[in-house]
Formats: sequence, C-alpha cells, structure tokens
Amino acid sequence: MKCAKLVAPRKIVIEEAPKPTPGPHEVIIEVRYCGICGSDIHAYHGRHPFIHPPIVLGHEFSGVVHEVGESVEYVFRGQRAVVEPLLTCGRCLNCRLGDYNRCKELKVIGCQTDGAFAEFVKVPAHRVFEIPDDLDFLTAAFTEPVAVAVHAVKRAGPLAGNKVLVLGSGTIGLLVAAVSKIYGAAEVISTDIYDYKLDVALRMGADQVVNVRRESLEEYIFKHVDPEGVDVVFECVGGVKETLEQAVKVTRRGARVVVVGVFGKPVEVNVGLVQDKELEVKGSAVYIFKDFLDAIELLRRRRIDVRPLATKVFSLDQVPDAFKYIDEHRDTAIKVLIKVKD
Ligand SMILES: [Zn+2]
Ligand SMILES: [Zn+2]
Repeated sequence: MKCAKLVAPRKIVIEEAPKPTPGPHEVIIEVRYCGICGSDIHAYHGRHPFIHPPIVLGHEFSGVVHEVGESVEYVFRGQRAVVEPLLTCGRCLNCRLGDYNRCKELKVIGCQTDGAFAEFVKVPAHRVFEIPDDLDFLTAAFTEPVAVAVHAVKRAGPLAGNKVLVLGSGTIGLLVAAVSKIYGAAEVISTDIYDYKLDVALRMGADQVVNVRRESLEEYIFKHVDPEGVDVVFECVGGVKETLEQAVKVTRRGARVVVVGVFGKPVEVNVGLVQDKELEVKGSAVYIFKDFLDAIELLRRRRIDVRPLATKVFSLDQVPDAFKYIDEHRDTAIKVLIKVKD
C-alpha cells in the first residue's frame, strides 16, 4: 500500500509499505479522508514532545472497514467508519475507571504508531464507530477534533449563562467556541492574531472576537464584556506563556480555566492569582467514548457546520505539499485534509 511517512523533520516521503494485517481483535480501515492536526504540524517541525519520526502521521480519519480480525464481532467489512484513535492498556487504574484518556500507557494512532496518511490503517475493533448514512466522509473526518472540543467543554462544567473566552481560533479553538454555544454559553469571545480566523469564529458561533495582536485583551474584556471578568477560559493555543498569563488575569473570581493546548515546555503562571481568585485550572486531554458519540451526533444533526473549517483538500501523493501549504498560509489555513480515496 501507499503511505506518506515522516522520516525526519520537514521531510515526508511517499513510499510503498506492506498492507497491515489485523490481529484477532483488530480491524483494517481503508482510509477516505484524514485531517492534518496541529500536533501533526508540530511533529513535522520536530517540535512535538511525544511524536518522533519515522512515522506515518494522521489520526483524524474516516474510511471503510476493509478487513476484520478473527475474534471481531459487531464490526463488518464494508461498514463506513470513524475511529477513536486511542491505544490503551486496559489494566491501569484510569482505564478501569473508564477514564482511559488518562491511561498510563496511552498511545495515539498516527502519533506513536502508524496512522492514516496511508491507504490502510490498523485499529482496535472496539474503537470503531459506524458513520450515520447521512454523514459524508469529509464531514466524518472532523469527528475526532469535534470530540476534543466536546471533552474540553465538559471539563469546564455547566456553561449555561456563562461568558466564555476561547484563546486561539485554530480548528480546536473554533470548535470549542461552537460547542460552548451549543452547550448553553451566554456569550463566547474568541481571540486570534489573524483576522481571517476571527471571521470564521463568528461564523462558528462566537459573539465577539478580539485580534490580540492589535488590541489589549485585558482592556477589551473589562470594558466590553464584563468588568468582573469572564466565567470560563479555554486555552486553545498551547506552547506560549502569554495565553495562560492572560487567562488568569481576565477571569472573574471563582472562574474556571481549561488548558486544551499542548505545551512542550513548562511555562510560568501567576499561581498567586489562582489562589487569590479561587480559580479552577484544569487540563483536557483527548476524549472518551461518550465524547465521540456526542461528536458524531452534533455533526449528524448539523449543529456544527464544518465547511468554514475545511480550508483545502490534497491527495495522498500531495501530503508533503499539504504540510508546506499550511506553513505558507498560517493566516488562512484552518483544517487541511488529505483525500486518500473517493
Ligand atoms: Zn488531533
Ligand atoms: Zn491504561
């Protein structure tokens, strides 16, 4: 089969590899669409703390069940499928509690094992979800990032009547803004440094947007949103200290801060403010089964429109060009997808 392999930072080669064969409880998916994630881009630049070449990236995919292992029940050849791309031990405390996104040995398909920038990918049968008939393959490939947003929003707790600030308007930030509105937020304020992404934020359901390169976020929030500060902040940038610094400043007392962005290095936070304002600071990492179900349902019911997010589609042969395209269009590229097969 054909696959696109990251062999060194900034070097992806298209190569032939043996088609994977399923173990007893595994399934082979013939890939249709696979999105390029922010973490794929970090890995491409050699800057992801947990992803290292050589590897076939790609964990946001839709496809068709091509082959099933001998002990697999309930998953059938020819089924249209999306996959929760988590490999978990099933034995550690959190696995047994059902919080397997916190597994001690968590691996992500396409991050620590070969992923879906390939014609075929091997996955555990129990992580396969059927795609509803009225959901197309391209939209279904958004299930994974929508599930990330659903999990993050649930981590924040009830949002009804709340003023919610979403820092960063990449795919995850935009989806967190959309899901926050669906889950009852009274007002969502999105930030970014690019006007194009802020326009998309408005289309996704944000009520107000702030270009933090031009405007002081602190001034904006206290003047135009609430003199007390916001109730909830989602950090969806990752990697820079400014966002968390801002987050603890613009919250009201007793607010919640959810860290969704990935930080490769430690950053400083004013813990004095966390204590004095009685802030709740929480992390959010991937998703569990229910988040995936909810994500599929939000897409099926057209509660989330992914069209403003789908920036451009490339073929499997063009994976290297797709990564270059993202680098050269940081201001407008939101989700770039690979169409592996029609
Ligand atoms: Zn991802
Ligand atoms: Zn585990």
